[in-house]
Amino acid sequence: MYTFNEAVNPEVDPAIRKTMQGNRGSNTKPELLVRKILRDEGFPGYRLHWKKAPGKPDIAYPGRKIAVFVNGCFWHHHEGCRYAYTPKKNQYFWINKFEENTMRDNKVYSELVACGWKVFTLWECELKQQEHTGQMLDLLACLQEAVPAGNQVCKRSIC
Ligand SMILES: [Zn+2]
Repeated sequence: MYTFNEAVNPEVDPAIRKTMQGNRGSNTKPELLVRKILRDEGFPGYRLHWKKAPGKPDIAYPGRKIAVFVNGCFWHHHEGCRYAYTPKKNQYFWINKFEENTMRDNKVYSELVACGWKVFTLWECELKQQEHTGQMLDLLACLQEAVPAGNQVCKRSIC
């Protein structure tokens, strides 16, 4: 999920590299939790990292055009969140990295919305405190209402 090119960032020390690798990729704990809740609530038909939707959402219901992102607070720099700190070492690198991530997130969300998708963002810190967060309840309500209409591939050029 997070591409990281050592050659471009030679100043990154091994400890940071380890942090980055540890946080990379899919099937994170919060993701697994969300998938379990969705299955338990009776909505098992999701696709993981569905390539045909902009930004390959962590969880997608193509028929209902519902996309779910399960965001780690550190990587996605959750605004006002205590987990969204900036490491003291290599601050410039991290500030850049977080800006990039936030910009990419916003771009993906607006592309999805432009294609008629409903986008839900679930944050790691909120899921830790309470499994059924406000967003989760909204998502479940939306799933309940939406009528699946087959796998909808967006035809717009930006997708
Ligand atoms: Zn957070």
